[in-house]
Amino acid sequence: MNEVITPVLNNIFTDIQRIFDEQRANQFIISTAKERKAKIKKLHNAIIKYREAFHEAMYADFKKPAIETDLFDLFPVTSEAKHTGNHVEQWMRPKKVKTPTALLGTNSQVKYEPKGVVLIISPWNVPINLTFGPLVSALAAGNRVMIKPSEMTPNTSRLMSQVIKEIFEEEEVAIFEGGIDVATALLKLPFNHIFFTGSPNIGKIVMRAAAENLASVTLELGGKCPTIIDETANLNEAASRVVWAKYSNSGQTCIAPDYLLVHEKQKNRLLNLLELKIKELYGSTENDRQTGDSLGRIVNHKHFLRIKYLFDDAISKGAKIVCGGHFDEADNYIEPTVLTNITDEMELMHEEIFGPLLPVCTYSKTERAIQVINSKPEPLALYIFSKQSKNTTLIVENTRAGGTCINDCTIHYSNPNLPFGGTNNSGIGKAHGIYGFEAFSNQRALLKQNSPYGTSQLLAPPYNDRI
Ligand code: NAD
Repeated sequence: MNEVITPVLNNIFTDIQRIFDEQRANQFIISTAKERKAKIKKLHNAIIKYREAFHEAMYADFKKPAIETDLFDLFPVTSEAKHTGNHVEQWMRPKKVKTPTALLGTNSQVKYEPKGVVLIISPWNVPINLTFGPLVSALAAGNRVMIKPSEMTPNTSRLMSQVIKEIFEEEEVAIFEGGIDVATALLKLPFNHIFFTGSPNIGKIVMRAAAENLASVTLELGGKCPTIIDETANLNEAASRVVWAKYSNSGQTCIAPDYLLVHEKQKNRLLNLLELKIKELYGSTENDRQTGDSLGRIVNHKHFLRIKYLFDDAISKGAKIVCGGHFDEADNYIEPTVLTNITDEMELMHEEIFGPLLPVCTYSKTERAIQVINSKPEPLALYIFSKQSKNTTLIVENTRAGGTCINDCTIHYSNPNLPFGGTNNSGIGKAHGIYGFEAFSNQRALLKQNSPYGTSQLLAPPYNDRI
């Protein structure tokens, strides 16, 4: 390591420990609903104030179109902030619970208190949303917060860091830019809760580190999200919705449809419609699509090569290109691509694609589609296009997923009244709205004895008189 970098990193590591100690020392200064709302409002206002700067930072990082930054990063945080601001007072209120006969003379309630000092580690694909979204919930629950954003989108991370430093004291919220070394240093500290968004493999590292301190975790992970299109589905709707959900952010979305399972009778028409919709949304020629302003880039060369490898492997094993297939390495650009003739030997049927390749597989019996889904780890999202409720019920009841949309894709993310998260390999714990508030809260059981003849005294020894 050279002389310039070493002192900078040393400073970060000493800052991490110092700020953690300060935050911990202040963790019992409990904030009121009004104070929490004010902090959330400050964050909300800063996002509005820096909107254009965020557009520029995201464009500099991976040419993300400004509208996608609004739709998938800024708007989700401002709406989470508004929803939480409107409800936090009610969520914070202790909840009275019933008293069983054996405990007559007592009353009980659940008290929501902050977990204490919490850590948020976020990924690069929708970096503002996945850093500031959990921050809203952590602040609503009254915590002190330390944040580590992704090193893969350095311009956006720098701007988020500037915003946090401008609006919060470091003893309330502190942010540390950096990569694995910074994350590793943070993970050694005894946080009260760790909220991690990223890949399942790194999720395991985070959970192992959390185990050392018995910190609770929320793990928002990824995986392969299947989409079933059955024999009754409206193909026009299905194709439009799948194309938008798959290719926005160039496929780098945790809840994007990863692969399609289409009924064999619908395959040919669906393939035609997918190609048509891609042209309608992104441009009618290969050149229009690459030079247009609706497609961002793959975040970096490493991820470009990862996706290219998945494509080359599939082609070498017999996959056919329905449309797309153009790769420009110098520009980290991959054209929206649809592939068919897919087999289970292809790597893209085992690894999360996280890019603009869409494998289309066929089935003839719903049970077979269910079998394919259940042969893989539990997905973060599963989508079903069908007009037959018998079929959707069969699929929902025989599979497991973090979330499901019927006749649409990804939009369940935007309902703050629904829990958002995965199950097992796709995640542990839930985010958004009250679920995010609960993730960052300790639910303390509080019982008050009001009677001089408490049950505990009635049950105390000597026992022999009562037998
Ligand atoms: P990643 O797991 O590589 O990195 C996420 C974060 O972990 C980054 O801040 C990174 O610096 C940090 N990190 C990397 N290596 C680490 C290590 N060894 N120890 C500690 N921290 C480490 O994920 P990514 O590439 O940034 O994001 C893509 C993944 O995230 C995909 O799997 C995607 O599905 C998932 N994701 C999930 C959600 C969700 O809400 N469930 C949302 C977005 C992305």
